[in-house]
Amino acid sequence: MLPQEFIRKKRDGHTLSAQEIGDFIRGITDESVTEGQIAAFTMATYFQGMTRDEAVALTTAMRDSGRVLKWKELNLPGPVVDKHSTGGVGDVVSLMMGPMVAACGGFVPMISGRGLGHTGGTLDKFDAIPGYQTTISIEKFQQVVKEVGVAIIGQTADLAPADKRLYATRDVTATVESIPLITASILSKKLSAGLDALVMDVKVGSGAFMPTAAKSHELAESIVAVGNGAGVSTSALLTDMNEPLAPCAGNAIEVHCALDYLTGKSRPARLHEVTMALSAELLVQSGLFADNAAARVALERCLADGQATEVFQRMVSALGGPSDLVASRGKYLEVAPVIVPVPALREGFISAMDTRALGMAVVALGGGRRRAADKIDFAVGLSEFVALGARVEAGMTLAQVHARNADAAATAIREVQQAITVADSAHPPSPTVYEAVRINR
Ligand code: URA
Repeated sequence: MLPQEFIRKKRDGHTLSAQEIGDFIRGITDESVTEGQIAAFTMATYFQGMTRDEAVALTTAMRDSGRVLKWKELNLPGPVVDKHSTGGVGDVVSLMMGPMVAACGGFVPMISGRGLGHTGGTLDKFDAIPGYQTTISIEKFQQVVKEVGVAIIGQTADLAPADKRLYATRDVTATVESIPLITASILSKKLSAGLDALVMDVKVGSGAFMPTAAKSHELAESIVAVGNGAGVSTSALLTDMNEPLAPCAGNAIEVHCALDYLTGKSRPARLHEVTMALSAELLVQSGLFADNAAARVALERCLADGQATEVFQRMVSALGGPSDLVASRGKYLEVAPVIVPVPALREGFISAMDTRALGMAVVALGGGRRRAADKIDFAVGLSEFVALGARVEAGMTLAQVHARNADAAATAIREVQQAITVADSAHPPSPTVYEAVRINR
């Protein structure tokens, strides 16, 4: 079918066949479809939506636009599993969860992204570790997953290449916010890793990618239905992003947080709850454990006996990072020259946090990117966030700013003060995990 006929069919609200979608995606990959045609298709889809079957066909066609990893010949003694988050501030879960799930018998080929807008990127956090290679060959990637149980690396050009072109056009044509397009974009990349099971963390709240709780729920349902429709056992948790998940945001600072968590030096309650909930969900979803309780026992054990920390260290060493990172992290992780507290301007209760604005304060400090080509300052960021609902006196610390210089610190102090509302009444506590979306158990 001619691309213009394909676009017309979607524009007029008709259902596209898997064959038609496959042909169009092949045209995107071999560049016979123009950018204008991609734009028209994404706008038509934005308004007309897609049936579940169309979304499955789009996802599998995008997944198959490049290489799809095969694990059979490697004879792994456990399932190939992964987690994906829609992203947030202080969302350091992948750094712990990958090693924890591996220590409990899963094999985790985690292909992560860089920071997007206000959200931090797992890849940027690993780039804060000197020597750690986030760009490696697929062969080396699979070898590390086999030997260590987990490898966390960046997107390679040969995995789901159609998404790169499609996303670049969506980004400049106001068509990112379409549930079937987001679903296919996220899942095509994740499923190209050849997974048996996937758990999705869909954030809800002031720092979430989706603008409302209803939209977050809709995305979770779509991802679960399409993931399962594409043959991967998929479930989702909706988790809170009305405040930073960990009390830290910024790349080297988050690596510290992750190591504190793994080694037991500090395990903040909300971070622990989300990490355990997602990890247990994945261990059950993949069939490794019969139920949530058994999975949690195993997860607590691998934290307590140091196995998860050991897996993290082995992954770092296997991917070129320091072999004594866990023992001597101070030697390797950059520290900002200016570390200053953000004082509360009045007494009262922390009644709201604009988590997106806190993420943007980290970007302004240099810890994230405004444009794709920007270089990241790994040392900067925020730490020791006060919790929603906490009572503070005027002058008490709302967070610590880690900045390159005093001017940047002063700007960040103002931004954090604006982002954190101190009011007369307490904020009713919100759940950390709102709900699970599952279809097959
Ligand atoms: N993240 C992605 O990878 N794709 C989208 O479409 C949105 C967020």
